Amino acid sequence: MATDYDEPRSDVKESQNNSLEALQSANAPDARSVVRDLDEADALDGAETPGGEFISEELTVQVIPQKDDEFTCYSCFLVRHRSQLAREKNGHAYCTDCEG
Ligand SMILES: [Zn+2]
Repeated sequence: MATDYDEPRSDVKESQNNSLEALQSANAPDARSVVRDLDEADALDGAETPGGEFISEELTVQVIPQKDDEFTCYSCFLVRHRSQLAREKNGHAYCTDCEG
């Protein structure tokens, strides 16, 4: 049974190489249609989100009320648990991620 493991593995390798060569020699019509789909998706995104969505998401994150055992890191502005408080400087707290 041990030899059975090697045989299907080499078959898979060969079929992958063959399909790669086939795509390259056929000038990859599939890849072109994929790129076209991506372009259309980008165009749709730009039309539906005129640049305001990301800003409102950031504000929502900062508005989350922090609990007594939490603090807001002054560097990354994320609400962290007290156990992640690495340093306090000039009244500002910094998390372990930002202090490294
Ligand atoms: Zn931080």
